Amino acid sequence: MTALTAMQIPGFRGILITPGHHDYDDARAVWNGSVDRRPRLIARCSGTADVAAAVRFARDCDLEIAVRGGGHNVAGTALCDDGIVIDLSAMRAVSVDLVDSTALVQGGALWGDVDHETQAHGLATTGGIVSHTGVGGLSLGGGIGWLMRKHGLTVDNVVEAEVVTATGDIVRASANDHPDLFWALRGGGGNFGVVSSFRFALHPLGPTVMAGPVFWASEDTTDVLHFYRDFAADAPDELTTIIRLGTVPPLPIVGDELHFRPAIAVASCYAGPVEDGERAVRALRQFGTPLVDLVGPTLYVDQQSGLDDTVPHGWHYYWKGTNLADLSDAVIDIIAEHAYGATSPRSYAAIFHMGGAVARAPRGATAYPERNVNHNMSIDAVWLPEHDDTVGSAETAWARAFLDALEPHRAGVYVNFLDFDDDTSRVREAYGDANFQRLAEVKAKYDPDNVFRNNKNIQPATQ
Ligand SMILES: Cc1cc2nc3c(=O)[nH]c(=O)nc-3n(C[C@H](O)[C@H](O)[C@H](O)COP(=O)(O)OP(=O)(O)OC[C@H]3O[C@@H](n4cnc5c(N)ncnc54)[C@H](O)[C@@H]3O)c2cc1C
Repeated sequence: MTALTAMQIPGFRGILITPGHHDYDDARAVWNGSVDRRPRLIARCSGTADVAAAVRFARDCDLEIAVRGGGHNVAGTALCDDGIVIDLSAMRAVSVDLVDSTALVQGGALWGDVDHETQAHGLATTGGIVSHTGVGGLSLGGGIGWLMRKHGLTVDNVVEAEVVTATGDIVRASANDHPDLFWALRGGGGNFGVVSSFRFALHPLGPTVMAGPVFWASEDTTDVLHFYRDFAADAPDELTTIIRLGTVPPLPIVGDELHFRPAIAVASCYAGPVEDGERAVRALRQFGTPLVDLVGPTLYVDQQSGLDDTVPHGWHYYWKGTNLADLSDAVIDIIAEHAYGATSPRSYAAIFHMGGAVARAPRGATAYPERNVNHNMSIDAVWLPEHDDTVGSAETAWARAFLDALEPHRAGVYVNFLDFDDDTSRVREAYGDANFQRLAEVKAKYDPDNVFRNNKNIQPATQ
């Protein structure tokens, strides 16, 4: 405690923020405005050496540790009460290597940083669909995005990582160096150390892609989903689609008369030539009577940031996630019954179309396990901070009831869509028994004292 009051971490050159510091409240704010935790110290690192110094200091002082990448985890695991936050938000550098088509990305970068630098060279890697999401947490959990069916998940594009371990040592993990750690990092979350940088494989893309959403009235939901099921099953790998059920977001590109109207949307992005993309989405655009069709040639960086304002920092969020093997008739009926039952017009459900390159990677190749499900669903309750608790309670009840109704059809869950009340049994569900056990063994080797536990935690295996 004395050391904390003096705010000294030996060898640390970043910024130390304690309660009373003018930046303390901003520094402890994360994306989900319903998270309110008060760390004893926020160590904003300037580089890998600072991260190592902060880990060693925390262990010497027996401090609880949380690691902050982009601060987007809905459960707020980037923060802890009364401990130290190893804050990577000042470590956002991205550099592109044109010789081997890779990008070196610091552990606190956001996806907008990566797209900005890589698209300057006409390159890209699979990243999240909202540009203010962090690279760190997303890449360590799996990484689903517009390019995944063509180029794999984000974890499939990680070539190596620089990791500060629980002892404060700096190691390189790749297929050849610490291969067990490298396997675990690609899906196992922040359980194994602090990743100070990632190297990602890059692929030629854009800068213009065929992309955008088509909206239909909510009354058309069942018909659209039946059509979509066959459309998605026949889609080429280049085409990734996401269904969004809720209301039409009040974006400037949509006419005022449609704002907040209950609607189903199917959004597309084609990772290939625009003309091929035009052909690939034609049948979708011609189906039924859309309320509005916003598909067209789009800069990939705009596609990556088009949803940013629909999920801003500071609103209150609560998520329930599940994988779905298929969109069976029964599942479609449940979706149509529950999707528009939220009170808040900002709540929605998203269904990501998996398959393609995601499914071709062998099960077990990475800690991210679920390669054979066709759809990944997130039920996202959203309400404004000024709303009272009854609104939040109604929204969370909606999300829970929606998930409960899908129970007979669930097929695992994506770890990055778990919320704070998803317990250890759901973490195990996210990995499946075999991967969970293997992760526990790697954990026992690299973090036997479970120093990194403010995450979707995997306890070290016991002998
Ligand atoms: C608006 C929004 C959009 C999203 N879109 C997608 C999407 O398109 N695809 C998708 O797959 N997921 C998506 N997600 C989920 C996302 O993958 C998780 O929220 C993820 O945890 C975000 O990472 P972060 O670094 O921003 O989070 P943080 O809250 O900073 O970190 C979450 C946890 O990850 C670990 N962590 C983070 N960085 C590091 C690091 N460098 N080293 C070690 N551990 C680290 C820590 O354990 C931390 O507790 C989205 C989330 C939001 C809020």
